[in-house]
Formats: sequence, C-alpha cells, structure tokens
Amino acid sequence: MSELFQKALVKISTISEDYKSNKLTLQSAYSLARNEWEVSFIDYNNNNDENCICGHYIKNLVYIENKNLGTEAIIGNCCMKQININDYEMIKKIFKNFNELKNNELKLKKETINYAHQKNIINDWEKSFCLDVCKKKNMTLAQGKKWRSVIDKIKIGFKLI
Ligand SMILES: [Zn+2]
Repeated sequence: MSELFQKALVKISTISEDYKSNKLTLQSAYSLARNEWEVSFIDYNNNNDENCICGHYIKNLVYIENKNLGTEAIIGNCCMKQININDYEMIKKIFKNFNELKNNELKLKKETINYAHQKNIINDWEKSFCLDVCKKKNMTLAQGKKWRSVIDKIKIGFKLI
C-alpha cells in the first residue's frame, strides 16, 4: 500500500522527471517528494466520491499543497503519516472530533475550535467563547444556545452536515 502512495506522490512532485528517467530510486525520490507538501485544509467527505492518491476510498480528507508547484492533491488519513506533517497528532484529534460531531454529539475539542478559527470558520469572539465554555460542566440556557449555533457553523464549515 505504501509503495502505491509513494509512487503517486512522486508522480505529482517536482522530482517526477528524475524518477521517470531512472536517475533516482523510488525511496530517494519519495524522501525528496514528501518534503514538498504541506497540509492546506482538512474536512469531511459526505459524498462517496473521493479517493486518496493511493487509491483508497476516503471520508477524512486532507488537502495537501505542493510548496514548489502550487498544486493541490487530496490524501486520506490512511496516508497522512507518509508526508511530513508537523500537526499530525492535532489533525488526528480533529478527525476524531469530526466523527463525534457527525454523530450529533455536542462536543468540541480545543484543537477543532482553534483550527476552525484559523480557517475563518468562526470569529474571535466565538473562539474565546467556545474555549471558555468547553471547560464548563454546566452552561446557562443562553450559553447552550450559542454553543449549539457555533457547533452548527463548524459543521457547515467542515462539511459535517
Ligand atoms: Zn492513502
């Protein structure tokens, strides 16, 4: 499985020509290629129409961008570990939270709140409100109402509805 991913990644990286002309082994081409990519966005796939470049059908989408070419590709969490991602643990937590939200749980992890803010899905006020309220055991009625409306905003932003 990982060889499929490696070949696919090399093919869409700047190193592609050198690999094709046999100047590089797959291993060395891949170790160069994986550094060209960074995560640009993550969200959830509601339609059964996305595949990771390794061929796997995927629900959790990781959009990656090639820093040299400016091109974009989609991978799944199946292959997320195969490129150099600093935020790997954070993204894993957010995907777990996506699943909970998808199951209509009213849960927001601080990682999801921060990420939604970073991607302009929620504003500064909503971010501080959520970070503050998510620590509380009991919310007032008004807080609960606002909490649910921010959750809806996040669900729409990450295609969880
Ligand atoms: Zn994959």
